[in-house]
Amino acid sequence: MSKKSHLGTRSVWSGEETYLMEGATQVPVVHSVSFGYKDLNEWLAVSLGQKPGHIYSRNTNPTVQAFEEKIRDLEDAESTTSAATGMGIISSTLFALLSSGERVVSVKDTYGGTSVIFSEFLPKYQIKATLCDTTNHEQIKAEVLKGCKVLYLESPTNPTTKVMDIAQLAKAAHSVGAIVIVDNTFATPINQNPLHLGADLVLHSASKYLGGHADALGGVICGKKDLVKKIYHFREINGATLEPMSAYLILRGMKTLDLRIQRQNENAMKIAQFLESHSAIERVYYPGLTSHEGHQIARQQMRGFGGMMSFMLKENSLEAVGRFIPRLRYAHAAANLGAVETIVGPPATTSHVECTKEERAQLGIPEGLIRYSTGIENVDDLIDDLKYALKAFA
Ligand SMILES: *Cc1c(COP(=O)(O)O)cnc(C)c1O
Repeated sequence: MSKKSHLGTRSVWSGEETYLMEGATQVPVVHSVSFGYKDLNEWLAVSLGQKPGHIYSRNTNPTVQAFEEKIRDLEDAESTTSAATGMGIISSTLFALLSSGERVVSVKDTYGGTSVIFSEFLPKYQIKATLCDTTNHEQIKAEVLKGCKVLYLESPTNPTTKVMDIAQLAKAAHSVGAIVIVDNTFATPINQNPLHLGADLVLHSASKYLGGHADALGGVICGKKDLVKKIYHFREINGATLEPMSAYLILRGMKTLDLRIQRQNENAMKIAQFLESHSAIERVYYPGLTSHEGHQIARQQMRGFGGMMSFMLKENSLEAVGRFIPRLRYAHAAANLGAVETIVGPPATTSHVECTKEERAQLGIPEGLIRYSTGIENVDDLIDDLKYALKAFA
């Protein structure tokens, strides 16, 4: 697809411009484990990658490929590969690119599963992860300049929506020859393209905004061809392959990605402003608010501020959160995010369930914090819902 088309058009069409089967206008879900070749020469050519085609669905599959092509185009990347889950692509990436004795620099606020890889699994292979204070750009740069193989970033972060200056940090990392990876799950390619800011690889948990309907798990990474090839090779052998049915559901969800994200950006901004002015609320963490620490950086590197926010009740306790959540009519209380429905949950049961109360405090996550994933509902209904729930806390 021509790069001149807008993201809204590309969300609909990319990866789906040619019919795969008998003129079917929708991408078929190809459940076949393998692909047959009567001609041995052709079989060999496809196997060796000299001719396009598929051999075995653990490696590649037409439905999965259509999904990969859509996200590749939206991220303006050279190449892409996918995995069964976001963690599948994150672990494949780190294990494919790092070797023992090497070092990765990252931040304390990465997604919970990612930080477990850094703290528990990489050290088993003598790979050291140095985790900096998330918004301390000077510290991150200083650690990077000591030399590292990978700089791993996530912006905005979960759950307090901290923002990192991707362009500035990527520049420092490139000066020591490091590979820059950005988890773009919260922003989506509609709001932010890390590759345009200098990252080498951008990844997503497709289980969140890309799919958008909380009915399929998936993960995907896009970027430089030589790096993606290594990640693909690891995933192909490690076997955490994306299911064709999940790929189809995510692909279908992605047709409305631009629509959904525009709506979520608008809803979240209004809700954040409403919450910030409410007397029962201590603090709102949303990059679109001028009161947000990373607002200026977010303005520079994002086209929209996203649907994710968190807020803290004045009554700062998990017990208060437990009383607040059931008063909401239009919100699932659940661990996921990025769906069409609004979803709420405290970090204590979602992103930071593995931490103790003290560890959460150290990370600057108050017990009275509520993560709020704004849905696509009518914003007046969502605000009325919050108003009602907050009445008990006035
Ligand atoms: C959910 C999430 C992941 C992990 O994705 P799964 O699909 O659940 O494995 C990684 N990063 C971020 C920012 C996430 O929100």
